[in-house]
Amino acid sequence: MPISNKEWDIIVSKFNEKGSMLTKQRRTAIDEILSLDGHHSADEIVDVLKKKKIQMSRATVYRLLSILAEVNLLEAHDFDMNKKLYERKVGKFHHDHLYCIGCRTIIEFSSESIEREQDKILKKFGFIEIYHSHKIFGLCPDCKKKKFI
Ligand SMILES: [Zn+2]
Ligand SMILES: [Zn+2]
Repeated sequence: MPISNKEWDIIVSKFNEKGSMLTKQRRTAIDEILSLDGHHSADEIVDVLKKKKIQMSRATVYRLLSILAEVNLLEAHDFDMNKKLYERKVGKFHHDHLYCIGCRTIIEFSSESIEREQDKILKKFGFIEIYHSHKIFGLCPDCKKKKFI
């Protein structure tokens, strides 16, 4: 999933605004980060980059992730209190999440009727949505059987 020029423009202007250098290596890293599927911790992403021979300090990767989240190309999920999980927004359809607190399984779902209800609520409060994130925390069928709680 290549990043479009429009998205690069957004990234470049954010880097400029922050006085951060967008080196060739950082561009390569951003390309990799925004083509990852699934939900990954910052440490997992550091490892993925390492495997692709993109040598980068942990601090730099963390910084890239926070900039990409700031410009809304990446979503930083707070499923777990201790670590964020990142998921690309580029080239993905909107979806919401079920999170199992037993085994940390993540299930993606999308519901037209929930989206419609949310739109109604926005209208009612005269609110403009930038983004929303709907999460349900619970137990998957396996963990329910194990009587996790
Ligand atoms: Zn589970
Ligand atoms: Zn997701």
